[in-house]
Amino acid sequence: MIEELIRTEIRSFIPYNANQQPYKIKLDANESPFNLPSAARKKLAEYVLEDPRLNMYPDTDSIQLREALGSYWNVDKENIIVGTGSDQLIQIIANVFVEKGDKVLYPAPSFGMYKDSCIVAGGKAVDYILDQSNNFSYCADKIIQAYEREKPKIIYICSPNNPTGNLMPQDEIIKVVKACTKSIVVVDEAYADFSDTTVTPYIKEYENLLILRTFSKAFGLAGIRCGYSIASEKLTRAVNLARPPYNISSLSQYAAALVLSNIDEIKTNIKYLVEERERVSLKLAEIDGIKVYASAANFILVKIQNSKDVYTKLCERGIFIRAFGSSPLLSDCMRITIGTHEQNSVLLDELCTICYNK
Ligand SMILES: *Cc1c(COP(=O)(O)O)cnc(C)c1O
Repeated sequence: MIEELIRTEIRSFIPYNANQQPYKIKLDANESPFNLPSAARKKLAEYVLEDPRLNMYPDTDSIQLREALGSYWNVDKENIIVGTGSDQLIQIIANVFVEKGDKVLYPAPSFGMYKDSCIVAGGKAVDYILDQSNNFSYCADKIIQAYEREKPKIIYICSPNNPTGNLMPQDEIIKVVKACTKSIVVVDEAYADFSDTTVTPYIKEYENLLILRTFSKAFGLAGIRCGYSIASEKLTRAVNLARPPYNISSLSQYAAALVLSNIDEIKTNIKYLVEERERVSLKLAEIDGIKVYASAANFILVKIQNSKDVYTKLCERGIFIRAFGSSPLLSDCMRITIGTHEQNSVLLDELCTICYNK
């Protein structure tokens, strides 16, 4: 009976499945290996001990956090919405703009939420392919052609792209924003902290541009579920129409603002991870049978012969990386998150052992 009540579009969905087995080294979810700095932990503890007011609802507009983000980005707080992870913002955007039959254009392979949120909202998800044979590179003209053909309400660009790691050059992104004036262009910059590029300044010029950022990756706060959007005031007001009340817990608002005020430490961590990414990329490329894709993020996509076998053997050794099952666009590809120097070295050693002893 229950089965028949489920909307037909949703029946084939599979709940998100994260590997929850015990592990030694976890490099499968693009998390930061750096926990909250001890000075910040102390502050958080004091906040809880003094007067956390957890009996009260949080500030429904996250005003202090948005003001802090506004000064960080040199924009007004009216340009910012905070979400329970940028995941929630992707859902809200679909709920605001997508009506039954409306289209959403998104890259493939990329982050799964663009498609899922569209389908849940009753829309039609249309992908544009990033070719493995072309190193998954973006092409503005290809997106613009799809825009003219499909007339989507929303166009997603993920840069650097998850899981491929490549950037779409800034001028190419802006070309799309300029050409596709009847769509919202969402640029997901979840990993842009590792690449030093952003299109945020362009929100002042283009009303249809919305950028997504998150505290979950470079800022090391995946546990607090906090992300945000930056866009023109007009677009921000529109997205805010469907934001649930009190969507960010007071503890999350406090912790996010706290880390934002200790930005030097985050910058040091980012520099460390970028250096490690370059070291690991070179080492991986030396192993026979592994192709390494250039990355501007905190992870590296590799193509490995017998990837299933390699994946299983790494799991047996307690090392988790991300595999992509039977996805034809990512055949034999796996994604490795950059961890600490020690973690990365263990991974490299184990990979060498596996690749040369089979
Ligand atoms: C991790 C990730 C996000 C967001 O994560 P939240 O934790 O929900 O903020 C968004 N987009 C991409 C491409 C990601 O990889």
